[in-house]
Amino acid sequence: MTDRAEPTPPSTKPAAKPSAKLTPMLAQYLDIKAAHPGALLLFRMGDFFETFFDDAKILAEVCNVTLTTRDRNSDHPVPLAGVPHHALDVYLSRLLAAGLTVAICEQTEDPAQAKGLVKREVVEVISPGTATAPELLPGPGGMVCLAYHRGAAGEAGWATLDASTGEFRCGQEDVTLPSLCERCAAREVIVAETVDAEAFRRWRSGLPETVLSAVSAAWFHPALAADTLRDHFGVRDLDAFGLADERTSLAVSAAGALLRYLTSLNLKRPVQVVTLQFAARGDRMLLDEETLRNLEVFRTLRGERGEGTLVHHLDRTVTPAGRRLLERRLAEPLTDLEALAEWHRGVAGALDDRNWREEVRRLLHGVGDLDRGVVRAAAGRIGPAALRQLGASLRAAGEALAAVRGEGHAAHPAAAWVRRTPDQAPLAALLLDTLAEQPPATMRPGEVVRPGVSADLDAAAAVASDTRGFLAALQARERERTGISTLKIGYNRVFGYYYEISNRHLDKVPPEFTQKQTLVNAARFRTDELSAAEQTILDAEERMGRLEGEIFASLLAGVSAALEPIRELSARVAEVDLLFAFAELAERQQYVRPVCDDSLVLDIVDGRHPVVEQLLDGEFIPNDALLDGDVRQVLLLTGPNMGGKSTYLRQVALLVLMAQAGSFVPAARARIGIADRIFTRVGAGDNVARGQSTFYAEMSETARILHQMSRRSLVVLDEVGRGTSTYDGLSLAWAITEFLHHDDGPRPRTIFATHYHELTGLERTLPRLVNLRLEVREWQGSIIFLHAVKPGCSDKSYGIHVARLAGVPEPVLRRAEELLALFSSEDARALTPERLPGTPGFSLAADRPAAASRQLSLFSDGERDALDALRDLDLEGISPMDAFLWLARIKKQL
Ligand code: ADP
Ligand code: MG
Repeated sequence: MTDRAEPTPPSTKPAAKPSAKLTPMLAQYLDIKAAHPGALLLFRMGDFFETFFDDAKILAEVCNVTLTTRDRNSDHPVPLAGVPHHALDVYLSRLLAAGLTVAICEQTEDPAQAKGLVKREVVEVISPGTATAPELLPGPGGMVCLAYHRGAAGEAGWATLDASTGEFRCGQEDVTLPSLCERCAAREVIVAETVDAEAFRRWRSGLPETVLSAVSAAWFHPALAADTLRDHFGVRDLDAFGLADERTSLAVSAAGALLRYLTSLNLKRPVQVVTLQFAARGDRMLLDEETLRNLEVFRTLRGERGEGTLVHHLDRTVTPAGRRLLERRLAEPLTDLEALAEWHRGVAGALDDRNWREEVRRLLHGVGDLDRGVVRAAAGRIGPAALRQLGASLRAAGEALAAVRGEGHAAHPAAAWVRRTPDQAPLAALLLDTLAEQPPATMRPGEVVRPGVSADLDAAAAVASDTRGFLAALQARERERTGISTLKIGYNRVFGYYYEISNRHLDKVPPEFTQKQTLVNAARFRTDELSAAEQTILDAEERMGRLEGEIFASLLAGVSAALEPIRELSARVAEVDLLFAFAELAERQQYVRPVCDDSLVLDIVDGRHPVVEQLLDGEFIPNDALLDGDVRQVLLLTGPNMGGKSTYLRQVALLVLMAQAGSFVPAARARIGIADRIFTRVGAGDNVARGQSTFYAEMSETARILHQMSRRSLVVLDEVGRGTSTYDGLSLAWAITEFLHHDDGPRPRTIFATHYHELTGLERTLPRLVNLRLEVREWQGSIIFLHAVKPGCSDKSYGIHVARLAGVPEPVLRRAEELLALFSSEDARALTPERLPGTPGFSLAADRPAAASRQLSLFSDGERDALDALRDLDLEGISPMDAFLWLARIKKQL
């Protein structure tokens, strides 16, 4: 079990034994509870799952059920709360959502047969990130348990396990825990208990959607972790997983610890974990948390999933596995050119052949969640209805893949993937031909297996149904014989079959009828004949149940044996689904095939923002982008608020991300020199997502870029430096730009949007920096945003115009205009409130020459030249930008 250091959810510590003399049942409860101290124990008692002591208080609070007391009047009353067993999933999902780990304790023998206390056992322990039941899973993805282990040298090992699909991955890279959580939507994270307390606290508060636990540090020990993995997979070394290297030891630590954790929950070997994928550093684009958030890949800036996110607007997949692959691709786009070329060629082929595409997609529609189905089946936790569903999915998957490799498509890349896929048609046929057409969700005798499958079963079923027919005939006969027209045969679990006769006919009851039960208006009777018929039915049903159970178990064994090939089939389905979904998307949204190469060129013609374009009421204005590593390395974008700067930046980054995810892109044309990473940072003032974010966070995020970027990276900065005072911010933005551009640095491709117009002057000194602006038109004192990106710099900030649009009162605006003119022409630091125009005792025109002449004698010739130049400066005719540059020049001269 986990040790939860200062747990967020209420503690589930074992209750102290409350009394010297316990009932046997409570003693049994406490024993079982002691074996699962970290879990909330749901204790099956008849039709209820009960909890006691502290667990009862937690259950009552989290699930909003009544808290009662057992032995209320004794010295040691026991708090008690329970939930009905048939609604377990509802309550379970609430408990897991509250971050609790839950142990489910079932009665493992029939209470009717039990001598004394019913045997009970914990059959399953579920932590928030390891649920597998479909009812507990929020969607096709999003149920991941993650282990994180940072090494001394800055790198970290990680491992993720989706217990519902069995996907187990690990990797090692310089990555933060929040970045990993954003990439895979981890529900639960384990770290070693030795982790820095401050870091633990920061993660806990920064990751509210994730349950963070500290577990034994020994589990992460590289040697022990490697042992755990070797044991589990039954291999002598980890070569086969690509994990033999020294440089993967952190990944091994994380993977071993995670498996250990899962074993500790499941109390046995987790059946679904059949392989481990090592995510090699080189073949994926790395995206950190800030970038995924700023680009709104999985969540909007407000933290919501769904509409407004990239994944939502790109998703045209029709299978759960396809959706999961889309999420993976957006979190970890490809960098392998060959793979990308093949993928893009595949999308083009599926786009061109509409009939084929529609046929394949129609068949894919019938494919449910193969991964989850097979995991549930292998664990023996699947009912007849879901097993039949799995069979139908296997059949549909086979048909869809057959359509993919159908005639005329041999040259298509997908046809090659599919050709190597194991055929599961026989298994599908076995499941579908054995199980009834509409089997029940849980085992019920006589309803699970089709007639004709087993002669024994059919014989038993015939006996049962013959006997039921016999009972119907018997009822008719006895009515006639006794003259009681309302006599009827009924059934209950206590008395079995009986005759029910209403009170007013009791005088006509024949002598061989034995009375068994008296009701208000009627009485119930049995006869030997009825008992014999009942016994025949019970025997037949018992035999049917046993035979069906055997048949069902053999089906499960067949599915378990095919666990690996089914997962492989599912992987192919996912790829085909995503590829055809990208083609569908490309057609619907008029995307084009990007050309990816290993240049540093980023050449986008008429690009559009994939999400804003779909959400906008009006027309989206397309824009070009041209970057290369050499002549156009840094694009500096200025323009008024609301001009479209942020949209443009994100659009460029998103197009690169989409292209490398294998999708076509919203543009007329796009050439994309592969990026190894995309970094985006948004200035604190502009960052809606982090209302509480500080300038410190902004700078530490920026610092990380400056350390991690390479020549292949794409760096996108939006108003960085905004979170502090103007001069600090300007200086930082300036220095960061110089650093990004520096000849001896990595020189990543960069786009920087800023409201510091002063920065545009850098174009003169930094040869690879290019100024861009967002075009606006002034019209009758107001402005119109054209959202068009043009060369050059915007000459005004238009902040006052925007304020006017926003309804700020006219006197305020006039005063602001007056001040703006002044700030633009002076070194603003020398201005104090007393010296501002309109403030009593100060007049700009009269004061300044006087001030100058008073000090004239102190100046050298050079300084006098500077003062002359200042005097001659045409304040009306100079832009704020040029004024700043002018001042800079004079200052240098001095
Ligand atoms: P800025 O960052 O310059 O303040 P934004 O990028 O936030 O501006 O854009 C402001 C608004 O303008 C957005 O809400 C968006 O709807 C609209 N917009 C931006 N770019 C375009 C475009 N290319 N075509 C149409 N509308 C756009
Ligand atoms: Mg903006």
